[in-house]
Amino acid sequence: MKVIIIGGGVIGVASAYYLARAGHAVHLIDRSNDIANETSFANGGQVSWSSASPWAAPGIPLTALGWLFKPHSPLILRPNADPAMWHWLMGFLRNCTDARYRRNKERQIRLARYSHSQLVELGRAQGLSFDSQSRGTLIVFRTPGAFEAARRDRVVWSKFGLDVRELNSEQCIAQEPGLSASRDKIAGGLHFVDDACGDCRAFTLSLADRCRTLGVTFELDTSVQRVVRNSDCIELIETTQGNRSADAYVMAAGSYSPLLLRPVGIRLPVYPVKGYSITLPVGDAARAPQGTVTDEKYKVVITRLGNRIRAAGTAELSGYNLKLRSRPRATISRVVSDLFPGCGDLNQVEFWTGLRPMTPDNPPIIGKTPVENLFVNTGHGTLGWTMACGSAAALASIISGVTPDVDMDGLTLDRFA
Ligand SMILES: Cc1cc2nc3c(=O)[nH]c(=O)nc-3n(C[C@H](O)[C@H](O)[C@H](O)COP(=O)(O)OP(=O)(O)OC[C@H]3O[C@@H](n4cnc5c(N)ncnc54)[C@H](O)[C@@H]3O)c2cc1C
Repeated sequence: MKVIIIGGGVIGVASAYYLARAGHAVHLIDRSNDIANETSFANGGQVSWSSASPWAAPGIPLTALGWLFKPHSPLILRPNADPAMWHWLMGFLRNCTDARYRRNKERQIRLARYSHSQLVELGRAQGLSFDSQSRGTLIVFRTPGAFEAARRDRVVWSKFGLDVRELNSEQCIAQEPGLSASRDKIAGGLHFVDDACGDCRAFTLSLADRCRTLGVTFELDTSVQRVVRNSDCIELIETTQGNRSADAYVMAAGSYSPLLLRPVGIRLPVYPVKGYSITLPVGDAARAPQGTVTDEKYKVVITRLGNRIRAAGTAELSGYNLKLRSRPRATISRVVSDLFPGCGDLNQVEFWTGLRPMTPDNPPIIGKTPVENLFVNTGHGTLGWTMACGSAAALASIISGVTPDVDMDGLTLDRFA
């Protein structure tokens, strides 16, 4: 079957790989001049399958209110008149109950665990190199109260069989020696042993090379302008380089997916949640992180990627703008210098922003749509790198008419019907 994929981020490229491996003729279209040039370009690098939790959680509405008035807040809200933003926000708030949080977390972990196993298998089989590490994720807490509150999740960890170690500040330093200069700022830590990290863009670029050897064609610098529907089917897509048609179409355009599908009558509840990162060369290796560390208070992740350090954070609701604002940069830099002082030169950073394609309940949307030959793989929000391989493998099975190896309950568009 000929399949067109719209979007060459980590999700689109992983989809291309698994579809080509299943025997399909795949053509991928992206508007950028390179693969992984948008949200998959410089994310936090965590493959945090065991430590990740939905952002929509009990207590978040109240905590978020407090954040709005704090100078180094993880949340920035810039309301606009777009009804999609308000609709998404209401949906997000509805998911902040205990019951929905547990349900959404189970869905995330189910897919993320499967995805991690696919990533490990793929990385090994294809010899992909992307500055990866398997030292787990260390989440550090700045107050005993915050540490104690997080430890209440013990029931959840044992329910999912996660290997989570509770560390005091000395044990955190043993795990990440670069933290020794900030000993007095750490009340304790949680080590999610089975997590990993790596450079999402480097992975996507190497996977795209493997895709080419499987016959996948890439059409870059080509923007999809309109998806044309003819009753139950997509007939063609109009692009800046002319019309393209196929037997099946996969929408993997990240935050832009709902804008392309709304005109054909498909409502994807995906909204952009902007984030920022800085990347700097390692200065003093002894003071730098060795794996990946999350500062629980500021929700900033700091990841070692070879000879670079990547720090990422901030959730900004401000629509589709990519303006680089100074406030998030100051917050992220402050956390890096606070936890890993002297690790590198914070005046020499690459500053970046990207739009997380988020659903209101947080798990992504994968698989069929009401239009027969149209499929989606989007809405991965904060966990697109973590979930890419599993989502793509599942999608390829669905398109091939095979039952996916992972239970898809709660991961498809039906749940929003
Ligand atoms: C600051 C930050 C930190 C993050 N940290 C992590 C992390 O540590 N771990 C993790 O798992 N996830 C993380 N994420 C989330 C992760 O980066 C995303 O979920 C993931 O990159 C989404 O991939 P995607 O392929 O869906 O979207 P994208 O990478 O945005 O790809 C979509 C593609 O579609 C193309 N496109 C859009 N419109 C059109 C059009 N009309 N025509 C043609 N092409 C089009 C774009 O050019 C783009 O290449 C983070 C995100 C941010 C912003």
